[in-house]
Amino acid sequence: MPQRFNKLQKRILDLKRKKRVLILAHNYQTLDIQEIADFVGDSLQLARKSAESNAHSAILFAGVRFMAEMAAILSPEVPVYIPDPKALCPLAACLDAEKIRAKKREYPGVPVVVYVNTTAEAKFEADMICTSGSAVEVVESLGVDTVLFGPDVNLADNVRKHTSVRIIDLDEEGHCYVHNKFNLDMFKSMKAKYPDSVAIAHPECPIEVQDAADMVGSTGMMAKTVAESDAKVFLIATELGMVQQLQKQHPKKKIIPVYDAAVCRQMKKHTLEKIINVLENFPEGNRVTVPEQYIPHIRTILERMNKVRGQGPTAPIDAHL
Ligand code: SF4
Repeated sequence: MPQRFNKLQKRILDLKRKKRVLILAHNYQTLDIQEIADFVGDSLQLARKSAESNAHSAILFAGVRFMAEMAAILSPEVPVYIPDPKALCPLAACLDAEKIRAKKREYPGVPVVVYVNTTAEAKFEADMICTSGSAVEVVESLGVDTVLFGPDVNLADNVRKHTSVRIIDLDEEGHCYVHNKFNLDMFKSMKAKYPDSVAIAHPECPIEVQDAADMVGSTGMMAKTVAESDAKVFLIATELGMVQQLQKQHPKKKIIPVYDAAVCRQMKKHTLEKIINVLENFPEGNRVTVPEQYIPHIRTILERMNKVRGQGPTAPIDAHL
């Protein structure tokens, strides 16, 4: 069925075509923003799309700031803008460079692996970067018995479950407030209500929720599973925007949120009006840049992660945000 657009969406489509702007939207954006995007995906998929943006005069990134920073790192020639500059991920914000340096002093010589959900200054301090889909492989690739890891403690628990490497948290409190809302009781009661469902949990959920799920994986893995499975009902434990996107893509399947108040307020700061403002005015305050000295090191550790996963820099991935 052809997509029907509202007045604001039509204005955006017209502006982005005239001004040759590439619009990238994260899976957790509202559907009206996903609909006007050139590409919708997880943070690394979007960053990789940004690396193919040479034909565009600018990138508009509807996601949180650390994601837009990744686009700026992988596509330094094309200016990157964010619709609302206050869209900051609290998980990324909890781990600053000084915290990492303090842990390095406490554990000299122990390599640092950071989750992609970190600021550029935190990534600059790391030896390796990982996604939720690659965390175990990345940790094991180092060939050491101890690793400093962060900032998400639930993802760290997931890694501990699959490796004998000792994982030391870079931040003992680090978590995503959206995924941390899921608990075992709500998960079990939804499973009891839909016994034939396939339950999928994101690895940023608490470990007891992950343990109770049929599958644990990134948003990319969720999309693949729902598309390929013969099951008719899926329980999804992640941010609501992803659940809505899956339901729209698979109208014949029942896609049910485990918790329908799991909404990322930071992602939802973006609106169609704010996108129009950027496309009309390109305000300097909405431009996302990364200090030049960070860029070579972050590109190197991204390439290291790609090597571990046997992927080139623009290969499709099944990893989260
Ligand atoms: S869902 Fe969680 S990890 Fe993702 S941007 Fe929001 S707060 Fe950050």
